[in-house]
Amino acid sequence: MTLATAADAATPAERRTITVRGACPHDCPDTCALLTTVEDGRAVRVQGNPAHASTGGVLCAKVSRYPERTHHPERILTPLKRTGAKGSGQFAPVSWDEALADIAQRLGAIAARAPQAILPYSYAGTMGLVQGESMDRRFFHRLGASQLARTICATAGGEGLTYTLGGKVGMKLEFFAQSKLILIWGSNSIASNLHFWRLAQQAKRDGARLVCIDPRRSETAEKCHEHIQLLPGTDAALALALMHELIAGDWLDHDYLARHTHGWPQLRERALQWPPERAAQVCGVPVAQIRQLAREYGTTRPAAIRLNYGVQRAHGGANAVRAIASLPALTGAWRHPAGGVLLSTSGYFPVQRQQLQRPDLMAGRPARTINMVTIGDDLLRDTSPEFGPKIEAVVVYNSNPVAVAPDSSKVVQGFAREDLFTVVLEHFQTDTADWADYVLPATTQLEHWDVHLSYGHTDALLNRPAIAPQGGSRSNTQIFRDLAARMGFTEPCFADSDEQLCRQAFGDAVDFDLLAEQGFAPLPVPDAPFAEGGFPTPSGKCEFYSDRLAERGLDPLPAYLPNHEAPGSSRLYPLAMISPPARNFLNSTFVNLKSLRDIEGRPLVEIHPQDAAARAIAEGDLVRVFNGRGSHECHAVVTERARPGVVNGLGIWWRKLGVNGTNVNELTSQALTDLGGGPTFYDCLVEVERLPSAPL
Ligand code: SF4
Repeated sequence: MTLATAADAATPAERRTITVRGACPHDCPDTCALLTTVEDGRAVRVQGNPAHASTGGVLCAKVSRYPERTHHPERILTPLKRTGAKGSGQFAPVSWDEALADIAQRLGAIAARAPQAILPYSYAGTMGLVQGESMDRRFFHRLGASQLARTICATAGGEGLTYTLGGKVGMKLEFFAQSKLILIWGSNSIASNLHFWRLAQQAKRDGARLVCIDPRRSETAEKCHEHIQLLPGTDAALALALMHELIAGDWLDHDYLARHTHGWPQLRERALQWPPERAAQVCGVPVAQIRQLAREYGTTRPAAIRLNYGVQRAHGGANAVRAIASLPALTGAWRHPAGGVLLSTSGYFPVQRQQLQRPDLMAGRPARTINMVTIGDDLLRDTSPEFGPKIEAVVVYNSNPVAVAPDSSKVVQGFAREDLFTVVLEHFQTDTADWADYVLPATTQLEHWDVHLSYGHTDALLNRPAIAPQGGSRSNTQIFRDLAARMGFTEPCFADSDEQLCRQAFGDAVDFDLLAEQGFAPLPVPDAPFAEGGFPTPSGKCEFYSDRLAERGLDPLPAYLPNHEAPGSSRLYPLAMISPPARNFLNSTFVNLKSLRDIEGRPLVEIHPQDAAARAIAEGDLVRVFNGRGSHECHAVVTERARPGVVNGLGIWWRKLGVNGTNVNELTSQALTDLGGGPTFYDCLVEVERLPSAPL
């Protein structure tokens, strides 16, 4: 059966105005169900689907502007070939035939010598399983290209969760509404987890207490009953001190500990080394605040933790997640559907990755893996026995590494290499597209098929194209199909249509008819998934002590690991910097939408009044934020949103819109997390100084 779009199904008269069901593709846990209104082939409105419970008919301000983004006058609608110097942003339109033939020839010549010299670079510009990880992966597997470790957001937390709970699994979203205590840990939910926040508000109206744990006094922190404004990267110390107090107060579920956990005696011993006084010193928060939080967590039922990825963007990120994810098993919070912890639900989704991505097409060839976090260094490496072949070609899609990867002056140097062949699939002329040899126009979510999992709820979603591909744009799948054909790849899997790929994504494990009919299909996840243990770990228990980590020669228990760049450890750079997302951007997406950019204003750094006064910085001053890696100019906002000793550089602006052509990633480092090879964006020391104002 071929899936019909709404446009196919309608009569010509009906076709003038139609509504099409879809899914939000962005890197956000909410994965909203969309309803797009199309008039005469043009998307005029994008709304939340009220039939989808967690979306509840509401979208964030960003995606509500999708028609503006899709029909934007600056959309790239034809293939572009570089005509000026690298990075000059000078391009000329060329035909698809010319672009594909040249790209296939250039990649083919490299592949004939050293296929691993070709690197795909992609992330969650779309979270779609079809446009993000199907035909593209088949193409690069068949080519024998280097593989990319897609680590830039969530691998440290994912590993921490997997070593503790057994996978990216946790509480079901809807039950937060019934919690009586919610710890919102490392998340500005109002900005980046809006639909959870609605449930937290419901719980609050029903008497729940909300506690926000975050180095920044975010919009969310302001609206909680309490804010614990700890130093960045010290979350594990706080969690261990909470355990200390749970033991001291005997607020433990001894039966749950005995039956459903592994390594309690060892964790108990570790936690007893963390009295609140010690943690208070490390975290920079009052002892009494830690004691009170422990009492509340130990004595309130049901108690829930909404953990988000902010906590794991520092050296000890995975261990912090291990420590926090252990807490519900100490108190037996998992016994109630509204108790436990939620970092990600993506592990519940039965994605058929072998079928979608076809790693068998590597046919036994070696697979060198490049970590996307260290792209800055790796683009500058020569051929060596340890590294393998120098990278000669990069194909970027669903990502904007020049803006989003850490240590961006190195990233720019890499993309500036005259001998690097760069192809970028994009909607807009981003910072990365400026460095391309070819820019290929990609479709947006409103123009292609896709299937989505979620990392915040437990419903699979289908995205139908609402409008035709704009101009000469093509879907990622079609571009890789076309390239495969040009390169003579004849395997039948390169002929799979997008509709076939949509069906392959979950195979028979999700009711595709239901997905096609209503746009979403719930997974059969129990309401209280670990009420009776049954964790998907090797032991079936919550693993405080991980034999798998011990086998790797690593600390088997959750630990506090100080930051690579610990606050207070440098005389030259005395301020810690974090770079949480600006509310109206999603990573670097939406920065070019004027209506959203106007709300955000301009690139800024939030600095506490004490730190500002010590540097003679006043509100609105032009400042230089700098360290040994680079210098970023922006404007100061003097505010108690920043805690003393910590500045907040909201991200992620496009470099070309910055005062001196940089963004916060000029300052962040390529150092990695304890597990998972993740980035340490929030583990960064800087100094700030006032610059003379520009002459009027
Ligand atoms: S970005 Fe998040 S909140 Fe906004 S529409 Fe997409 S999934 Fe929903």
